[in-house]
Amino acid sequence: MGDAESTQPRMSAPKEVEDAVRNVIDAVRTRGDDALCELTERWDRVRLEPAGFRVPAEAIASAPLGSRFAEAFQRAVERIRRFHEGVKPRSVIVEDDEGVRMGIRWTPVRSVGLYIPGGKASYPSTLAMTAVPAQIAGVERIVVVSPPGPGGAVSPEVLLAARILGLTEIYRVGGAQAIAALALGTKSIPRVDKIFGPGNVFVAEAKKQLFGEVGIDLLAGPSELVVYADHTAEPEWVAADLMAQAEHDESTRVTLLASSAGVLSSIRQAMAALVEAEPRRQIIEKSWAQHGTFEVVSSLEAAAARINEMAPEHLSIQVEGPWQVLAKIKNAGAIFLGSHSPVAVGDYYAGPNHVLPTGRSARYASCLSVEDFMKRSNLVEAGRDFLLRRCEDVEVLGRGEHLPAHATSVSLRRRSGASPLARRGLRALAPYALVEEEGDVKLNQNESPWDVPGEVKEEVARKLKDLPWNRYHQKIPQELLARVAKDAGVAEECVLAGSGSNLLLQWIFEAYCAPGSTLLHPTPSFSLYPMWGEICEARLETVPLTDRFEYDGRRWAEAVGALKPALTVLCLPNNPTGSEMGRKEVTEIAKAAASGGGILVIDEAYREFSEAEYDRTGLVHELENVILVRTCSKAFSAAGMRLGYLLAPEAISLQLRKMVPPFHVNLFAAVLGLTLWERKDFFLAQVRKILSERNRLMKALAGLRGIEVFPTHANFFLMRVRDAAGLFASLKERGILVRTPGKDPALSGCLRVSVGTSKENDRLVSAVAEIVN
Ligand code: PMP
Repeated sequence: MGDAESTQPRMSAPKEVEDAVRNVIDAVRTRGDDALCELTERWDRVRLEPAGFRVPAEAIASAPLGSRFAEAFQRAVERIRRFHEGVKPRSVIVEDDEGVRMGIRWTPVRSVGLYIPGGKASYPSTLAMTAVPAQIAGVERIVVVSPPGPGGAVSPEVLLAARILGLTEIYRVGGAQAIAALALGTKSIPRVDKIFGPGNVFVAEAKKQLFGEVGIDLLAGPSELVVYADHTAEPEWVAADLMAQAEHDESTRVTLLASSAGVLSSIRQAMAALVEAEPRRQIIEKSWAQHGTFEVVSSLEAAAARINEMAPEHLSIQVEGPWQVLAKIKNAGAIFLGSHSPVAVGDYYAGPNHVLPTGRSARYASCLSVEDFMKRSNLVEAGRDFLLRRCEDVEVLGRGEHLPAHATSVSLRRRSGASPLARRGLRALAPYALVEEEGDVKLNQNESPWDVPGEVKEEVARKLKDLPWNRYHQKIPQELLARVAKDAGVAEECVLAGSGSNLLLQWIFEAYCAPGSTLLHPTPSFSLYPMWGEICEARLETVPLTDRFEYDGRRWAEAVGALKPALTVLCLPNNPTGSEMGRKEVTEIAKAAASGGGILVIDEAYREFSEAEYDRTGLVHELENVILVRTCSKAFSAAGMRLGYLLAPEAISLQLRKMVPPFHVNLFAAVLGLTLWERKDFFLAQVRKILSERNRLMKALAGLRGIEVFPTHANFFLMRVRDAAGLFASLKERGILVRTPGKDPALSGCLRVSVGTSKENDRLVSAVAEIVN
């Protein structure tokens, strides 16, 4: 139902109304009850004292029940209550597959004011339609305001309705001043949180002006009805519906969309005949004449388009198959389906609410319901694991919006939110993410494409078979160290071995990065360096590669000189870029590090693939602060066996030795290492094969559309493509795995490719060619 007293659409009130309302609000704001008394006297012609605004409890309690009206009203309330109970929103909590609990919790608005118009008709039904959902929502305080009638009384129907609804806080005050009192509060009328209910143009304007200080429901305008009728509609029934709507007010807008000229004319005839006997004939005829639209629509589509454009408050569909029509209706406040659903049934009795959006606002607004008396709160419970795993994204987003404190609020928790038992640096970290293993062409882990030859495996097995497994072994691992030392031309004491070069690197970090000391490492580079630095609670500093992914030797020397890092890390050739650095520059960096009292560790996991001029073995003799870390995982095909070693000046290796648990290099690895070492030439020949394959592969890829391949000194290289994620996924679908090399923005668009066998490389080239073309 629209507003009884209005005569024009409310969305923009005339200037005089706007000004008058502003004055009323100012008066109530500054003078409270005094202003209310004066304004009530002026507009409602009743002199009330502040104590007289509230309707006495006895007046409500003595409203006479038992009438036919009261009984019908009670039954209507019953139906309205049941319907609204059914549609009350329920709080929901969902838990996603990452363990984050999220939800929406509904809570009632604490206090509401219901404006019930007086004027041309009384509206107990509107009281029911606003109070019932408020009660179901759980609103604590429901206040009713209604203008005093002649002599100061509130309409008896409203009092009766209040009694039936169990409402006790009713004030005899109306117009803009009532809205101002509800929004701002006076001594006699405490303020509310949200205001509901239709009113005249002043009431609507006051709601508009006070919105923000108080919540409001809708800005009700003149009531509207569209009836869509075809040959199956009963002309007289349609006419009666059009009449029922129009009797509200002259400003009511009714529209008849008839499926044919015949249907239109029979309904018009019925309208003329019926209206003659109507007590509110004058209002009806004026409404029809001034605001009525009666037209023929050519098709269902045309009717739906018209209706959606008008977005009417009420829509009555009186055609064959109304549910088919419904499917095409997007904008309407309330929809009545079929000939047996007159709007009046919905207005009073059916159950759904009759407070509806008018003035085309059904395009974006809804019918009143329980949720309008409630509000939603979002709930989020992320949890520790999620924070550890995922919140780097949040940090990146915060920094991206130039709100670094947002990032800090997350990173701090990442640091300390994990198990409170581990040291701070460790708590901050997410574990190293292992990469995808599924796929028959594995070009994603920089491994050798060839397994250790069968006869070598057999030889290792034979040797192992003859050795006691129940004993700790000292001699054989020591032999391995001696062998490596001899090859490198250093003393045995200068060599340490461990289960993979990773572990050796980690020991070096532990030994040389004290909490608060500085770690300097390249970016982009191997992701474990910053991780180990974090564990040690070191200050992390980086030197970026150039935009062609080259080391900038001068910049490095400067950074080392300025920052005096306890530990400087170079990865040569660098993972994931394959970059190298000349021996002269490395020496300078090492010296700069030494003068600041720091160590230079060079991770040479891919050393064998780089040219002879980059051999740095001699540095271990020449300098006192250089450690070279190497591995059998790559060139020696032994990634699965976990064997790495380091070369360091004696003073350093003496310290590092303390980190190594006794019998750390296991018998299998030691025997394997010795056996592989005997076949060193074989593996170096394989390295040369990989390098020539690499050059062929890089050339082939560089010839494809939109692909840029970066120079490398390793058994892998970077390529930049138009859609790295897309190419990665398409290759994966074809069973080919390459690597997305991390989050560093410098690597955006890049994929890292490890060189495979020539067959595998061919498969990659033809797959990429197929995908990019
Ligand atoms: N350093 C770098 C640069 C690496 O890429 C890797 C392995 N991918 C390692 C060290 C560790 O190798 P491992 O532990 O197998 O010797």
